[in-house]
Amino acid sequence: MTINRHTCEEAFRRLDDYLDRRLTPEETRLVEEHLQICAACSREFSFEESVLTGVRRKLRHLEAPADLLGRVLSQLRRT
Ligand SMILES: [Zn+2]
Repeated sequence: MTINRHTCEEAFRRLDDYLDRRLTPEETRLVEEHLQICAACSREFSFEESVLTGVRRKLRHLEAPADLLGRVLSQLRRT
């Protein structure tokens, strides 16, 4: 199956995996293409990336449970 164009919904579904570098090169390319044409997603992605980077930095200091990151992100989505 070929995905021709990313919708916002598809981009968001891949957000976590994208930030964790878990996507295939093809999926990564599609997400990046969408970010270039969509200001809303671009803002959201860079916001989450900065949150993620901040949390990771804290985790290294605190040695918090590995699943904390996921919980923090799902909290963010609920607000
Ligand atoms: Zn979008």
